[in-house]
Amino acid sequence: MVRSNIIKITLMGSGGVGKSAITVQFVQNIFIERYDPTIEDSYRKMVECQSKTWILEILDSAGTEQFTSMRDLYIKNSDAIILVYSKTSLISFNDLTPIYDQIVRVRIPDWCIDNEMDIPIVLCANKCDLLDDFVVTKEQGEQLANEWNTYCFEVSAKTKCNITEMFIHTIESVINIRNNKEDQTVQNTCKCNIL
Ligand code: GDP
Ligand code: MG
Repeated sequence: MVRSNIIKITLMGSGGVGKSAITVQFVQNIFIERYDPTIEDSYRKMVECQSKTWILEILDSAGTEQFTSMRDLYIKNSDAIILVYSKTSLISFNDLTPIYDQIVRVRIPDWCIDNEMDIPIVLCANKCDLLDDFVVTKEQGEQLANEWNTYCFEVSAKTKCNITEMFIHTIESVINIRNNKEDQTVQNTCKCNIL
């Protein structure tokens, strides 16, 4: 079996939460104060993980998808999704629930009985450098992450705090899912041999 070494990560969330700033900080090590909110772009970066080289394709979505079917397509084509909100905006935090529900609809088909999501979702609380402006608490983020059976990273695109850690966690989650799938395939193959 040919294993792909490409990992596609999509950042989603309301406008202004810092999706572009996070992406550019991770890929280019700079903080951009102003970034055209309508620009949607993808970035490539090579990473070493579990002694292999991986090509990351990061899609910085603009959140201006006119049709939800556009978003469906992003969700279908991603290996992992980072859901971003700003700690300074409760609206941006609440905006993530409908996006999460859409991911569930797209990634868990009705006929799937074990109800398992085959894609890692990571919650990202950005702008944690703006201490005086927090309106979403750490506990609120953690509670939502618990509900979604995931992890909440408090990050700052400005200071780069936790940005690399969050991407590494995301990449490792994808690799683990791929390894599990491969193990299952091997087991299934064995079963076939016995028959
Ligand atoms: P996007 O619409 O989600 O892509 O958001 P942007 O990346 O364009 O960021 C929106 C605004 O928030 C910009 O002015 C950024 O400079 C600012 N911003 C993004 N991340 C941070 C952060 O971690 N800390 C602070 N203080 N500002 C940030
Ligand atoms: Mg942007």
